[in-house]
Amino acid sequence: MEIRISGLSRHYYTEGKQIKALDNVDLTIPANKIFTLLGPSGCGKTTLLRCIVGLEVPDSGEIYIGNELVWSHKQKVFVPPEKRGLGMVFQTYAIWPHMDVFDNVAYPLKTNATPPAEIRQKVAKALQFVQLDGFENRPATKLSGGQQQRVALARALVAEPKVILFDEPLSNLDAKLREETRKELRNFLSELEITAIYVTHDLIEALALSDLIAVMRAGRIVEIGDPKKIYFHSDDQFVADFIGRANLIKGSVTRQDGQHALFASEIGSIKALNTQNIAVGQEAMLCVRPEFIRLAPRQEPEGQNAFSGKMETLIFIGEAYEGEIRVGGRLLTTTIEPTADISEGDTITISFDPDHCFLLSA
Ligand code: ATP
Repeated sequence: MEIRISGLSRHYYTEGKQIKALDNVDLTIPANKIFTLLGPSGCGKTTLLRCIVGLEVPDSGEIYIGNELVWSHKQKVFVPPEKRGLGMVFQTYAIWPHMDVFDNVAYPLKTNATPPAEIRQKVAKALQFVQLDGFENRPATKLSGGQQQRVALARALVAEPKVILFDEPLSNLDAKLREETRKELRNFLSELEITAIYVTHDLIEALALSDLIAVMRAGRIVEIGDPKKIYFHSDDQFVADFIGRANLIKGSVTRQDGQHALFASEIGSIKALNTQNIAVGQEAMLCVRPEFIRLAPRQEPEGQNAFSGKMETLIFIGEAYEGEIRVGGRLLTTTIEPTADISEGDTITISFDPDHCFLLSA
């Protein structure tokens, strides 16, 4: 089911100041996709989710779930949360500790007076789906974090919603379980014909799970795209920087050459993709991701996009080194394979492919 949001605003007032938690948001969330709201803490993700669910009342705008208008300031429409046909999974799972698994999952059906035989059948189906059949009589408190998360998912799915919403559902799990549960969740969701809206500030989670990502900043949607578009070809400096520690280098365009441009930068002349067609003479920002910077220890720079630098810091993080290289006045961040023969203080040559760096409007 598609969700359409227009002109949605929600302002808070604290200590005499106005906070624009949502600032005139227009957004269409397509049916049956995993749609993620990603952004730094305080950008308005949870407020937007809570407005869709009906737990928060916006100041203005409209929200349609499918063809049904569930909120309109102008038309004075407010459909309460329980009538919106949505399932929700929270960060804390909100599992009832005094109930067993069956009763937890059955809860939404019991509150809407579903006949007992139908409850048994639907709970069995939901538990089977999240691979917890056989756990019906287990007290909720005797489950691992990952299992509790699956109970929460079963409970959100049991009433067969057309839309399911997740507010940072994996943030209480440890790193390994988080990774496993992320994969499971992706599998569960792709099996269902369901629209999923997922809130996170975790980049990897967003990239791994989503069909589409909307990046938010200060109550607004800055950019929407699939994970590869957002990661490799963002149209926005804030997004490029927020996603994956981009190196952003200032300069101006000196020549256009097909899809590429020559760019006079703080560290020298660079050839880069210019898909935004920034005109010659204009200031711009070059974006190059750490994993696309190649290193050649103890070599002289040679050819296009090659520069001499000094390895300033090198931190071993297991699967790689994270390095900082000083090139001219700039520190560039890079990812280096763990077997590289390199030390702090080494003089090196860095280079990057013109197809793996791109210009953004300044
Ligand atoms: P996080 O990732 O930290 O959960 P978020 O992107 O979900 O953040 P929101 O919780 O939607 O952000 O908050 C958006 C802004 O609105 C923040 O500046 C927050 O402090 C403010 N805010 C949220 N709820 C309230 C409230 N009830 N009263 C006052 N300000 C609020």
